[in-house]
Amino acid sequence: MIILKSKDEIEKMRVSNRMVAEILQELKAAVRPGITTLELDRLAEKKIRQRGAIPAFKGYRGFPASICTSINEEVVHGIPSAKRKLRSGDLLSIDLGVLYDGYYGDSAITVGVGKIDPEGERLLRVTEEALRVGIAQVKEGNFLSDVSHAIQQYVEEHGYNVVRVFVGHGIGTSLHEEPQVPNFGPPGRGPKLRPGMVLAIEPMVNIGSSEVEVLEDQWTVVTVDRKRSAHFEHTVALTENGAEILTCLDSC
Ligand code: MG
Ligand code: MG
Repeated sequence: MIILKSKDEIEKMRVSNRMVAEILQELKAAVRPGITTLELDRLAEKKIRQRGAIPAFKGYRGFPASICTSINEEVVHGIPSAKRKLRSGDLLSIDLGVLYDGYYGDSAITVGVGKIDPEGERLLRVTEEALRVGIAQVKEGNFLSDVSHAIQQYVEEHGYNVVRVFVGHGIGTSLHEEPQVPNFGPPGRGPKLRPGMVLAIEPMVNIGSSEVEVLEDQWTVVTVDRKRSAHFEHTVALTENGAEILTCLDSC
């Protein structure tokens, strides 16, 4: 069942999601060659708790950290580690969720560490733009899969592939609610979009094949061909006034 949010609930989600957006920006500013992903995780947890919020991922199905840090061929769900030092040229995805005042916020960015190569730059641009074209389909009367289709089409037009086995999701008083939001599929399917829906839309885009596998740590998702992947996510509310990106700070 898709849970529609009231105006008051969306107001609460503005708060939790803005927090996520702010902390992601602060983490982005801390990304540099030599820092470990565990240091970033500690920083994230500190910033989350300073705001009186709870890290949504910590303990979620046993996940051991506050953020997911996924580098290069890692797609999502990478576990922060003291052994993992960032190097110039890495592509780092940071996924962050918080729970504040009963409502979840969720967003992810992928950033280049130091100086990255042109293909890495292009992958980041295409993935972020795919998220933008998906969000542009969040309109009353559209179908959910119009979002999915727009993302897939944009990504494939640019020669990359979307991951299929992980998808976006509804979000509210639970981190993952219905509906699932795939990044692929034909248009015109699934539920119609209605004011009150809040969706976490999160394309995962691979340079090579869309196939992924999970490493022995039972969490880290990597591309089967070990080519690089990027991930961007926004939480978006559909209101009477149209789509509102709740995890956008100034411009998205
Ligand atoms: Mg996320
Ligand atoms: Mg999510």
